[in-house]
Amino acid sequence: MSNAKKINKATQVIHVGNEPDQTTGAVIPPIYQTSTFVQSSPGEHKGYEYSRSHNPTRTRLEECLAALENADHALVTSSGMAAISLIFQSFPVGTKVLCGDDVYGGTYRILNTIYNDRFELRQVNSTNLPAVHKELNEYKPDLIWLESPTNPMLQISDVKAICDASHDVGAVVVVDNTFMSPYFQNPLDLGADMVVHSLTKYINGHSDVVGGSIMLNNKEQYDKLWYLQNSIGPSQSPFDSWLVLRGIKTLAIRMEAHAKNALEIAEFLEAHPKVEKVIYPGLPSHPQHNLAKKQMKGFGGMLSLTLKGGLEEAKCFLEEVRLFILAESLGGVESLIEHPAIMTHASVPLEERNKLGITDNFVRVSVGIEDLDDLKADLSNALDKI
Ligand SMILES: *Cc1c(COP(=O)(O)O)cnc(C)c1O
Repeated sequence: MSNAKKINKATQVIHVGNEPDQTTGAVIPPIYQTSTFVQSSPGEHKGYEYSRSHNPTRTRLEECLAALENADHALVTSSGMAAISLIFQSFPVGTKVLCGDDVYGGTYRILNTIYNDRFELRQVNSTNLPAVHKELNEYKPDLIWLESPTNPMLQISDVKAICDASHDVGAVVVVDNTFMSPYFQNPLDLGADMVVHSLTKYINGHSDVVGGSIMLNNKEQYDKLWYLQNSIGPSQSPFDSWLVLRGIKTLAIRMEAHAKNALEIAEFLEAHPKVEKVIYPGLPSHPQHNLAKKQMKGFGGMLSLTLKGGLEEAKCFLEEVRLFILAESLGGVESLIEHPAIMTHASVPLEERNKLGITDNFVRVSVGIEDLDDLKADLSNALDKI
């Protein structure tokens, strides 16, 4: 679609990459469930040879995702971790990585166990700008890895300020934008060089696909990433790309509904006597609430809380909820709840977890788009059981 970047997000999600099929007029894009494509003469084809390299259904999703992040290029991978890994593969041995100190558990694990002999690694509290400046000047990193808001502490970093300072010293900035989705935050507009998403979460939104994506403007870097994807092979299947194209159509209304429910639930929990603390960027009590207002178009659907008490209280609460499903992952239409210390962040060493605040009474919630009163009643009942 030639005007893909000019139309608004709620229109992009429905139209970009979803143009009717040119040969049959089908309004919904076909699933090109094929591994290979006919050639009219050796080397002569219609742009598609083999589905590890390219597939028309995946191309459509890539067009939609590029438009949503205001990017020239997007690459769709078989998982968020595959996308993250491709980015790391594109940097040479000896690269100095500066990573936020509160990132997705899988990112922490891959840096510390798979790429630990390839890269130098330092971590920094990226909400602390002077600390970031100090690392930029002293450690002189080549690659900055940011999440904002972070997982699970929901800390907000000043993406624009960090990008500006990083570019001054020639470092590349990658932002994992999974928690906000492209509907609420666009890191490329704030100066980031690359954006990575787990499609598994808000973008697909229905907890039925694992996928990942990288969005960027630099053609040379895109070519390198595509070369790596084609060589290593973590390309998404046509059917999964089709499911994401289907799920993404409601991204705009889903994100609005997630944010509306999450704010109300955050306020409800903050006032509850059995709750010690609630972390949600939309609450005035959040330490970076003003920055969140400036940098994001909405506060998202993720919130964290600490209960009064310890592991026993947390376990009781998590066993007693009925609508909130006790499960890892996030960003689906159904509400999920989990215990980071035992579940998603078990690979983070205890000492690190304690430093961050991932304690035994700490709970993470992915607020779904169910009826708000039902969600509140469910939490209220479970809290009463403690
Ligand atoms: C889930 C997630 C990932 C990893 O994505 P997968 O699709 O599970 O491989 C990366 N970053 C963040 C912030 C995530 O939530």
